[in-house]
Amino acid sequence: MSEQPIAATSIQKDDLIVIAGAGGFIGGALTRYFQEQGFTRIRAIDKKPLYKWYQRVAGVESLCLDLSYRDNCQRAAEGAKEIYNLAADMGGMGFIEKFRVECLRSILINTNLIEAAYQAGVDRYFFASSACAYNTDLQKDPNVRALKESDAFPAMAERGYGWEKLMSEMFCQEYTAERGMKTAIARFHNVYGPRGTWDGGREKAPAALSRKGIEAVDSGNHQISIWGDGHQTRSFMYIDDCVKGIDMIMHSEKLNATPVNLGSNELISINQLVSYVEEIAGIKLERSYDLDAPKGVAGRNSDNTFIKATLGWEPNTPFKEGLAKTYAWISQQYQDRKAGKPTPAGDA
Ligand code: NAD
Repeated sequence: MSEQPIAATSIQKDDLIVIAGAGGFIGGALTRYFQEQGFTRIRAIDKKPLYKWYQRVAGVESLCLDLSYRDNCQRAAEGAKEIYNLAADMGGMGFIEKFRVECLRSILINTNLIEAAYQAGVDRYFFASSACAYNTDLQKDPNVRALKESDAFPAMAERGYGWEKLMSEMFCQEYTAERGMKTAIARFHNVYGPRGTWDGGREKAPAALSRKGIEAVDSGNHQISIWGDGHQTRSFMYIDDCVKGIDMIMHSEKLNATPVNLGSNELISINQLVSYVEEIAGIKLERSYDLDAPKGVAGRNSDNTFIKATLGWEPNTPFKEGLAKTYAWISQQYQDRKAGKPTPAGDA
């Protein structure tokens, strides 16, 4: 039988939930999700000024704090029952290949926040890890074998970003083993959807290619530049599946301190993605390939055997369906920006 989100664990609807990185894509969606679940005390935190948050959820305590500092983490953790760490300096391949130091420095957030969580006596601590923690040697072929949890070791993670994730996972595991704090670790595989970054250099492939399609429709210039040869493959998880999965993983007794894949296993090549964009936009694009652009590993997919066995569920929104919703949302943002309205997720 499948577990339902927010299993009847010790968490009550008036317990304080803290969400770090709440001004960003997934943290913002998670804040809204918990509020819709009826939680009345949510503290949302991000280092960005409030006007730059992708979502501001009414009735939520929203704080602007840089969580790479210990004092700020202590303030964040005060009185919390659960902490969700979704704060990181990150972006798509264009960002993580170019700014490895920034990615590595996110270790400061997790190091200080997990210690503050422990000192504050929280019940559970969630860490947002990534498929970039996996051994890159296993991802050299676009026809990939899907990655299972044990494939992170022997370790050869993505330089910078992936190693930070792997090290932070270890922090979670040792806080559980040595100090008895419950931790949850999900390895996200490419998350996309409305209210995510769609412009500015940190956006990922579904948003970037949707935007390029929208620009082509708007300008009448149907030439599109694609990063890499277009054969590289990925799986993409819709945001609604992501937040539901975070909830289930955090509240499963079977997954304490145990990294688990949270991703779709529908494998898509970048060329296929472009074809979907063409279908949605109703145009034919003239493709050119930028072989010098950042393209990441050749192929990556999520093996969902473990999550299905433990939770009886896996992310299941069909990619085409999620992409259509994402495209529609970005299209609206694009029009709003043209009309001079603020669009925080487009100005990252
Ligand atoms: P995002 O960039 O939209 O959100 C991250 C937020 O963290 C940003 O709003 C940023 O301002 C904030 N932040 C950065 N440094 C901070 C600091 N020192 N103190 C406080 N806040 C800080 O990214 P996202 O897509 O929402 O990702 C959330 C988490 O999920 C990250 O840990 C990311 O590495 C992980 N993840 C995301 C994906 C994906 O496809 N989006 C894939 C794998 C893992």
